[in-house]
Amino acid sequence: MLYRSTRSAAHDKNPSFSDILLSGLAPDGGLYLPMEWPRISRETFLKWRGLSYPDLAAEVISLFAAGSIEPEALRTMAHAAYSHFDHAAIVPLVEVENGLFSLELFHGPTLAFKDMAMQMLGQLFEYVLEREDRTVTIVGATSGDTGSAAIEAFKGKARVKIVILHPLGRTSEVQRRQMTTVQDNNVLNIAIEGDFDDCQDMVKAMFADTAFRQEVSLSAVNSINWARIAAQIPYYIRSALALGAPDREVSFAVPTGNFGNVLASWAAEQMGLPIRKHIVGSNKNDILTRFLLNNDMSVTGVEPSLSPSMDIQVSSNFERLLFEMLDRDADRCCAIMQEFRQTGRMAVPHDAWEKIREHFSARRLDDDETIAAMRRFYTESHYCADPHSAIGLEAGRHYKEADIPMIAAATAHPAKFPDAVKKATGLQPELPPHLADLFSRQERYSTLPNNLSDVQSAIRAHIQPR
Ligand SMILES: *Cc1c(COP(=O)(O)O)cnc(C)c1O
Repeated sequence: MLYRSTRSAAHDKNPSFSDILLSGLAPDGGLYLPMEWPRISRETFLKWRGLSYPDLAAEVISLFAAGSIEPEALRTMAHAAYSHFDHAAIVPLVEVENGLFSLELFHGPTLAFKDMAMQMLGQLFEYVLEREDRTVTIVGATSGDTGSAAIEAFKGKARVKIVILHPLGRTSEVQRRQMTTVQDNNVLNIAIEGDFDDCQDMVKAMFADTAFRQEVSLSAVNSINWARIAAQIPYYIRSALALGAPDREVSFAVPTGNFGNVLASWAAEQMGLPIRKHIVGSNKNDILTRFLLNNDMSVTGVEPSLSPSMDIQVSSNFERLLFEMLDRDADRCCAIMQEFRQTGRMAVPHDAWEKIREHFSARRLDDDETIAAMRRFYTESHYCADPHSAIGLEAGRHYKEADIPMIAAATAHPAKFPDAVKKATGLQPELPPHLADLFSRQERYSTLPNNLSDVQSAIRAHIQPR
């Protein structure tokens, strides 16, 4: 399987899965997509019904890694990746109301769905770096969940150093401690005296500094990395198979910000899974809802909400869907993205928007509506959802059609957002046993001013062989 960028024509030196795994973004600034979508036959779907989650994940990912990584190696990696989950089903499916299901993606080490892809990415990086005898320095910025998932996935990996920047004092205590209490020597946490945008700008500046990038072999694991999307496809397939696919349609509702998780459900449809609708759930940062309801994709600035992992300005992964809806016309896609960058307003052609609307609907919940939804699912079904998951469930409930199961992606454990859960339900959700002593663990991080050369020096010092 070879890959191409959304921003330039395919050519004869298209990269393989292992090439794009380590580079993330294409050199032209575009996002990678497979040259064509692998198709899964009805017979194969039926055969997959009985597989364990790791075996199914290996089967799906091997379609994207064909020619780069052997299926047997992927199976070993998938079993290792999902061995740190604290639920035997890995991704349990719970019926919350008649025909409305919660697909729980938060049973991994950091209690958010980012573990689903990141744990697999840790295995894939280790495998490819070993084979190519290379080392990399992963640098990332986080407002919370991504940083801890990345640190958990890459801690202790011999060929990887990982550096995560977080805005000083602006992550929740659980989120900060999940990052800063990891004691492995290849992990460096830096608290930046600034906000999340400062952290992200600093990461971008490091990637733009070619000399530094080569000196430390810079790499990224942000949500535009194709391998992350690929590793998010198996749970859509698995839950649909459990409810009657491929002989029955299902719909998915996904609380999303960067459009990563819902892009994976759309990808599953391209591969042949019968999906009726993809429902996007958003909070008051509703750029995606405004787009899907009114073709208004305009940047308005981020407001903090009860579902902070969806507090975003621009949904990076949307570019992949746009490219497909322009019939893979890279020139048009590139022009639209450049104009969006300059004006803060994306002019999606009306016919492309209408095509998108055939597959997607959307629902926005502000903070009060989110609390009300959490309270209702708790009082009517004894189901305790975190704010992100409640947005997915409520969006799904709104669009549920008779006879078509609606599967909502539950993306965080309630204990990750205890204040909102307490307010909505009166419950004080408990951290699972492996994190029960989180608040008494030793923290380790550096605090640095919002200054690029200070951060670069700290990274150089961190990657010196000890
Ligand atoms: C990251 C995250 C999301 C949004 O994921 P996208 O990649 O933007 O689709 C939703 N909920 C939680 C808890 C998250 O951590």
